[in-house]
Amino acid sequence: MANDCLFCKIANGDIPAEKLYEDDEVIAFRDIAPQAPLHFLVIPRKHLAGPAAIGAGDEALIGKVLRVGAELAAKNGAASFRLVANEGAEAGQTVFHFHLHVLGGRAMAWPPG
Ligand code: 5GP
Ligand code: ZN
Repeated sequence: MANDCLFCKIANGDIPAEKLYEDDEVIAFRDIAPQAPLHFLVIPRKHLAGPAAIGAGDEALIGKVLRVGAELAAKNGAASFRLVANEGAEAGQTVFHFHLHVLGGRAMAWPPG
């Protein structure tokens, strides 16, 4: 738990979120400003500031974040979906607790903006 981290507070239940899944290691919840018909975030409960903060000891945890994201996409009707993890402000990161975006339910453009 990092002080003043929004996603740590969501993980702790201090701030409400529309949760799709949670266990002792990860939580998935709908994005407050969805960019696609299906848009949710999967986070580890462990505070990691972003992709660059992933250590060798976090590999299983982040692998689980990916698995849970893919499983929940399918469970919520998206056979095709996009997974995104932004690192740093220039890449669009605004919340500095690692999160995997899962977006689906519409056609996606490439390259991303
Ligand atoms: P980033 O820009 O850091 O990759 O993604 C942060 C995401 O968190 C954004 O898509 C934003 O809409 C979402 N977000 C920000 N604050 C909240 C909140 O309080 N609750 C939820 N559910 N999502 C949030
Ligand atoms: Zn945090």
